[in-house]
Amino acid sequence: MTARDAIAQLRAAGHSAYLVGGGVRDRWLGIPASDEDIATDAVPGRLRELFPGARLVGAHFGVVIVDGVEIATYRSDSAYLDGRRPESVSFVATPEEDSRRRDFTINALYEDPFTGGILDFHGGLDDLRAGVIRAIGDPVERFEEDRLRLLRAVRFASRFGFRIEPRTFAAIRELAPRVSAVAAERVRDELTRMLTEGRARSAFELLNETGLLHEVLPEVEAFRGVEQPPEFHPEGDVWTHVLIMLEGLPESASPALAWGVLLHDVGKPATFSRSDRIRFNGHVEVGVGIARRILNRLKFSNEDADQILALVANHMRFGDVRRMKESTLKRFLRLDRFDEHLALHRLDCLSSHAQLGNYDFMRERFESMPPDEVRPPRLLTGADLIAAGYRPGPEFKRVLDEVEDAQLEGSIADKESALALAKEKFAASSAPPPTSE
Ligand code: ATP
Ligand code: MG
Repeated sequence: MTARDAIAQLRAAGHSAYLVGGGVRDRWLGIPASDEDIATDAVPGRLRELFPGARLVGAHFGVVIVDGVEIATYRSDSAYLDGRRPESVSFVATPEEDSRRRDFTINALYEDPFTGGILDFHGGLDDLRAGVIRAIGDPVERFEEDRLRLLRAVRFASRFGFRIEPRTFAAIRELAPRVSAVAAERVRDELTRMLTEGRARSAFELLNETGLLHEVLPEVEAFRGVEQPPEFHPEGDVWTHVLIMLEGLPESASPALAWGVLLHDVGKPATFSRSDRIRFNGHVEVGVGIARRILNRLKFSNEDADQILALVANHMRFGDVRRMKESTLKRFLRLDRFDEHLALHRLDCLSSHAQLGNYDFMRERFESMPPDEVRPPRLLTGADLIAAGYRPGPEFKRVLDEVEDAQLEGSIADKESALALAKEKFAASSAPPPTSE
């Protein structure tokens, strides 16, 4: 069932129903709508009679989902006590009353899908034409009610290239510190959307201008004014460097790549020093530690956090790729989602000295090297060492890694030479000698 069908059915049953929200806005802007929402005067009990398959997603709020279409009963939200959820909601009879609880004028347009007519109670169409994000009603009150709206305003403004109307902007600046009431997961999701929906640079400039960056990512705000050696970074400070990289992020960028770009130099402010020239000694290690704290705070999944941290931890290694031992290089290529490491390095170069030599070299290796050269089947396992009479212990892994290095270098290629090498390595170490043989 399409949203149109649902509206037809609601109207046939005597109800008022319209398309509303992002779908109407996006269609007007001529961009593909992410989802379609319906608002109606039918209460949830009635919706379940009319649509027996409806799934209740928020009984309290009066929202049901029918075949992926979200249908919400017209409502007004009472006072928000915690700055996130209304204390209670009450159902109302008209779209006009419903519209007052919505966040921005461009999100409160009600479309009749059969006539194309739009009900616009707050000047949303004018704001769409002028490219303006404007809170409905008193902006301070509206952001006080729901602090998530502070971030939504920035997200919509950057996504559409709109400006934020001055009173709305002033309210965001004033209330920015209150964004701390928003659950970490919600903050993370808003930031991820800003990073991955295109125009990430303008989102972060706006976060900075509104004071929200200081609240949600002070570690990134700290990039501002951190000078870099001009011979490597003609573009300027760390903040400028990262903004240029954000600007280059492809729209298809994964959340991990986008966060990796944002955080790759997060260790620089704390490690800045100036002697013969500006240096950031140990910034990668320090940065991994800071990034880990940020990702924990924002409750990232382990999978995302691991990849983001790997991107931060490995981004400086590209400087050495043309001098790397073959085994080290192959181990580097083996990193999960190596294409993201490459993409980050490319943006890193393009936003600074623009030299792509190491990138081209590594991309060529990445694309041309057959998988079984990067990750050949092991010549020797722990079981082989046990069979040869060695007792399992801490030496095992080190010896096996050294044997694998030799294999990756191409200096051994069969099990006999692998075992011979293992014996040499054990002999050179303090491990107990084989118990048999
Ligand atoms: P997108 O889905 O592209 O992010 P959207 O406008 O559709 O944008 P949704 O979160 O899907 O946003 O919400 C649908 C509609 O519900 C919005 O257009 C708005 O009218 C209303 N809405 C959503 N979240 C809020 C909120 N925090 N405060 C007030 N109204 C909201
Ligand atoms: Mg939506």
